Amino acid sequence: MEDLKKLEVWFVTGSQHLYGEETLKQVAEHSTQIARSIDKDPAIPVRVVFKPVVKSPEEIYQVCVEANTTPTCIGIMAWMHTFSPAKMWIGGLKVLQKPLLHLHTQFNRDIPWSSIDMDFMNLNQSAHGDREFGFMVSRMRMNRKVVVGHWQESQVVNSVSVWMRAAAGWNDWQNARFCRFGDNMRQVAVTEGDKVEAELKFGYSVNGYGIGDLVKVINDVSDSAIGQTVAEYEEIYTVQAPLRKGGDRHKELREAAKIEIGMRNFLKAGNFKGYTDTFEDLHGMVQLPGIASQRLMAEGYGFGGEGDWKTSALVRAMKVMATGLKGGNSFMEDYTYHFDPNNQLVLGSHMLEICPSIANDKPTVEVHPLGIGGKADPVRLVFNAGSGPALNASIVDMGNRFRLIVNEVVAVDPIESLPKLPVARVLWKPYPDMKTGCAAWILAGGAHHTGYSQNLTAEHMEDFAEMAGIEYLLIGKNSNLYDIKNQLRWNDLYYRHSI
Ligand code: MN
Repeated sequence: MEDLKKLEVWFVTGSQHLYGEETLKQVAEHSTQIARSIDKDPAIPVRVVFKPVVKSPEEIYQVCVEANTTPTCIGIMAWMHTFSPAKMWIGGLKVLQKPLLHLHTQFNRDIPWSSIDMDFMNLNQSAHGDREFGFMVSRMRMNRKVVVGHWQESQVVNSVSVWMRAAAGWNDWQNARFCRFGDNMRQVAVTEGDKVEAELKFGYSVNGYGIGDLVKVINDVSDSAIGQTVAEYEEIYTVQAPLRKGGDRHKELREAAKIEIGMRNFLKAGNFKGYTDTFEDLHGMVQLPGIASQRLMAEGYGFGGEGDWKTSALVRAMKVMATGLKGGNSFMEDYTYHFDPNNQLVLGSHMLEICPSIANDKPTVEVHPLGIGGKADPVRLVFNAGSGPALNASIVDMGNRFRLIVNEVVAVDPIESLPKLPVARVLWKPYPDMKTGCAAWILAGGAHHTGYSQNLTAEHMEDFAEMAGIEYLLIGKNSNLYDIKNQLRWNDLYYRHSI
């Protein structure tokens, strides 16, 4: 993944000329100190850059325009140490295209009881200065995150960091290219959607490429490159004996490596950040890409099976958001249920393509038949995923808008071994409980494909949805069906009246 430290969030402090030079100097000093402190905090994934205090409509407009046109700037953090009359902000906020965080903090944590005087009060007035700013942002109906608390408090820094990670994912989507090998799996509804609207709304493009073009690149892969990748398989994973060098199925491992290298070469040449494929369109390919898609995902590419470009793009964004965090993110599908009344579980998996970034143990490289697609047995990585808090996220196209649905889950260790299951898998319990979680997901129209995350939280996804300006629905610990149904009805009404 790319280094998030190349990205910047600009720390912009609002004020006005009214206070005079001495106060403005102090405002600048305090703001610099806050920006530096946040920048240096190990929880912060990007650079925080202090910008000179803005005191006029012209300065505010200028910094917003510069933020828009600076590729490394992924968002603005605004803070009003003093009062900054908010009509001054209209021009700048009107053109601002980058995500906005409003840090509602105060330089001094405590009231200095014995020494507080009117000078102190005039300098430390974010309690009302930030309200004036907040009114204008609300009046302009702009999405933003408001983080409240003292800037040295770890909860505040963490909440800022979550927003920054969402902004990094959002930034990654702008002008991103996603590639489709073949179309959707025929007749499938939820993986369809409006690609024109997606490009307008999300900033990424989705275009199709002939499978023959990919096959040509695969066929150009050299024997020595295949040898290197096969050696890597043997080094990193436990390779089944028949697939190893000298084994009677080694040829199939080499074929899988060839597909992987060819796909990587194709994706690199086209500067793609993710892709889709489909088992219904593999003309000229020997196997459905299994280990190829798994390893490409682990490198950071988005992936969606059966033409699912929305999930491919989402998986990519989630991987960018989670850069450097412990745990992984994968394409996922709700596959099979365990309806034991005392221990209800979902088994998540796919035909092949689960990302080894979520593996709990050393994956094994195996080859097994695949019931569909009519191709040779595909090579794949088989493993169990780790236990712990996780979430599933799905973007669906509701016709007049996109909806992001998030279900918080807790992953559990397998209760039994699954000796005959030839795919990577994960078991989880949806929140608030199996029945409510699944019913809510189905009522919301959530897809069977998701982005599964071990290291992002609902807060990351909510911030991301707000940056995109799309509907967000959380199915979490406190959800109940009565509220969910009402939210769906009310959201439906809301999106009929807004664009
Ligand atoms: Mn699928």
